Amino acid sequence: MADVISPESPFKEDVKRFLEESGVREKSEEILGPFSDMANQVAEAVWDALLPGSPFSSLSWELLTLTALMAAGFYYFRKGRGAKGPDGAEMQAKNVFDYIAPKAIYKHQSARVDIGLLILDRAMMPIWFVLFLGAVAPFVETNTIAFMQAAFGASPNLDPTIPWRLFYGLVSILIVDMIFYWTHYMMHKTEIGWAIHKVHHSAQVLTPWTRPREHFIAGWIWALGPAVGLSLSGGIFAWVFNGNITQITILNVGIFSVLYALNGNFRHYHVSFRYPRWLELWLQSPGMHHTHHSYLEKHWDTNLGLVTSIWDRMMGTIYIAEKDEATPWGLQAKDQAEYTTLRDNLVTPFKEIYRILRKKPKTYRTAPQAELAPGNTPDLTA
Ligand SMILES: [Zn+2]
Ligand SMILES: [Zn+2]
Repeated sequence: MADVISPESPFKEDVKRFLEESGVREKSEEILGPFSDMANQVAEAVWDALLPGSPFSSLSWELLTLTALMAAGFYYFRKGRGAKGPDGAEMQAKNVFDYIAPKAIYKHQSARVDIGLLILDRAMMPIWFVLFLGAVAPFVETNTIAFMQAAFGASPNLDPTIPWRLFYGLVSILIVDMIFYWTHYMMHKTEIGWAIHKVHHSAQVLTPWTRPREHFIAGWIWALGPAVGLSLSGGIFAWVFNGNITQITILNVGIFSVLYALNGNFRHYHVSFRYPRWLELWLQSPGMHHTHHSYLEKHWDTNLGLVTSIWDRMMGTIYIAEKDEATPWGLQAKDQAEYTTLRDNLVTPFKEIYRILRKKPKTYRTAPQAELAPGNTPDLTA
């Protein structure tokens, strides 16, 4: 097995030791699954992660341009309707540029906070990359392969035909969809999860940079599930096809992920992109995520899904909004007051976790500091 991590990586010693102690290196000599294979190239991925993005990461210029072009198409097709202002209600665009990138949204404090959080998120990403792509995923995968060999003997060595490869891609995206739903559910329904995830929901306007807006300690929570889930299924597929199965890709991205990437940017964008109702009952339209970001009580904890709507339907969290239904984004005022500035978004989750662990009751600041008249002190007991 080639070197898992490049000599330039600051984490190489830790990862190397982990791989040796866990026996991943020896086991992966036999059948190499997609993750173990990928781990060979992880060093490149790490450094790529620091750059503005690979072709289909949500923030690449190619995808941003595509989003703007699609939005321009919507502008002409819908005669200027279907975009929302910073209040989450239908806005009247002056022209196509105002429709694609309204000043009121891009000059909003929330949009600036998106960028600040993004920089920190990017700084932490190499750590998650090395930890999950370089260590946890190959470890789970090679152990799954070893288990399959012990339980069922040698690989049946099936031929990875195109239908099988499509099937593998479909299974992978459904696994991601399922794990995303349950991770997201837990982020909303547990006290500590919500204290952290409020950073994502404190966005008062939606921009493409709201997509990765999370507290920097949230990265591993989102990464752990898919890393384990995909390497479990990757291990089974690797055993069945003797390590020869790969997804059908376009520009190195799985075909189903490309389909998702083409409209996923609209989940966090002020232009609404909905599907017909019958389709939204099966697939999450990007516009359904607008409802998820609304602070109105009827919208709370709804549309938690990523690709399909099946989990939302099973758990009763689906919400199909009316056409042009307003979705004012952000948190309720008392929560928003604690999660508005960049500093608050970084510090409040730690304060909250500390409070929750000490089982102290929740108190709120009543209003953002800036809105208090001079000489007033915030009432911390309301
Ligand atoms: Zn959420
Ligand atoms: Zn979101």
